[in-house]
Amino acid sequence: MTKFDIVIRNGLVIDGTGAERFRADVAISDDRIIAVGEVDPTLWAREIDAAGLIVAPGFIDVHTHDDRALLSMPDMTPKVSQGVTSVVAGNCGVSLAPLALAEVPPPPLDLLGSEPGWFHFERFGQYVEALRESPPAVNYGLLVGHITLRHRVMDRFDRAARPSENAEMQRQVDAAMKEGAIGFSTGLDYPSAVAAPTEEILPLVAALKPHDGIYCSHHRNYFDRLEEAIDEALAIGRETQVPLTISHHQCTGAANFGKGPKTLAVIDKARQNQVVGLDAYPYDASSKTLDPGRAQPGVRIMVTWSTPFPDLAGRMLDEIAQGWGCSAAAAAERLLPAGAIYFQLDEDDVRAILAYEHTMIGSDGLPHDVHPHPRLWGTFPRVLGHYSRDCGLFSLEEAVRRMTSLPTRWFGFRDRGVLRPGAFADVAMFDPVTVNDKGSFTAPAQPAEGIALVMVNGNIVWQANRHTGMRPGRRLRREPGA
Ligand SMILES: [Zn+2]
Repeated sequence: MTKFDIVIRNGLVIDGTGAERFRADVAISDDRIIAVGEVDPTLWAREIDAAGLIVAPGFIDVHTHDDRALLSMPDMTPKVSQGVTSVVAGNCGVSLAPLALAEVPPPPLDLLGSEPGWFHFERFGQYVEALRESPPAVNYGLLVGHITLRHRVMDRFDRAARPSENAEMQRQVDAAMKEGAIGFSTGLDYPSAVAAPTEEILPLVAALKPHDGIYCSHHRNYFDRLEEAIDEALAIGRETQVPLTISHHQCTGAANFGKGPKTLAVIDKARQNQVVGLDAYPYDASSKTLDPGRAQPGVRIMVTWSTPFPDLAGRMLDEIAQGWGCSAAAAAERLLPAGAIYFQLDEDDVRAILAYEHTMIGSDGLPHDVHPHPRLWGTFPRVLGHYSRDCGLFSLEEAVRRMTSLPTRWFGFRDRGVLRPGAFADVAMFDPVTVNDKGSFTAPAQPAEGIALVMVNGNIVWQANRHTGMRPGRRLRREPGA
């Protein structure tokens, strides 16, 4: 009598709750885990040997720009090769839907790729349907973006939305939530959103309340007005009583170095009165569209893509400027539209933020960049290998918790993020001795080391350093309290 489809034997289970590892078999039937413990050897159809390996829940990438990649590169190799089994897309105010654009997407919508034709979903539900018809390899939770709505509703962006425009954006948030979104995001330092005052954002976040939605805030400023911007995000969450995620928490620019413990104290204090979470990525450099305003002397910037100069992807901006005999800012202007990596974070702050017990891990990876920030391919193995094992920032059990049960509880993804009977069979198996990121800033697109096998809803998607071609991903619903 065969009872289980697959049994993973001889591994050490880290179950995602933060509990210490233990030796157990993990039995899987269809898309669920049926047993964790000792399993009768006559009852399974297929055995996977996990000797020497950790068996953990698949990782949740809580901060991504994978909206289009889920459709255009559905194997999602940069993610599954890291052990990621679920992603949250639509961050920083930029979502693929609901917006139809015939032309080349203007910045920052080109975070989702600069080719025309991908923004073609008039309704959020059409995007959801497209993903259902052509599923990706990973599960996905979807946010609807403020900047996308501004581009849908407004004719210019250097002003606040008029009352009628705001009402239409509220209707779109409401519709997106009914059609499958889990929340709303902003990117308030992007040029097409900077003119949006707090009063524009408040009713859009409030529109989430009847749907138990979540607000993910790339807040107004990560530089000289960092504290003010965090206060604004907290105030929006407090006033609307909607859970607030502070996106890619960081203290950018030399003037902010050392502020990490202070901003964390502000967030910690706020947590006493409101629902606040945060995410971060494990690198001391950030990445977004190229902003000539940030091309100041002494700031190291690497070009990740450029429409007029595609061959310059991967080159340093100051070298390009030298070659052209102009200032870095002038070179940046000539490279637009373009993307960049900014080497402007302090390693001690990065560590303080990662070490904070409520910090979730989100890659913020940009899958369409020609020369992407290495976080796209390396975030999760880097936390496990570099920061947990090599730097001792926290235990491996705690590293896994940050990537699994902490985010699934925060987002309300029921029956995921833990290895226990009844949970979905999203599994990452890795070697605790070798696991690490392999990409660098000069050669970023490299699968991680030590990820042995990855399973999504009971289907093996990655094994022996190869994608299996399976695409079993499903849309994730938000079920608070799940
Ligand atoms: Zn962002």
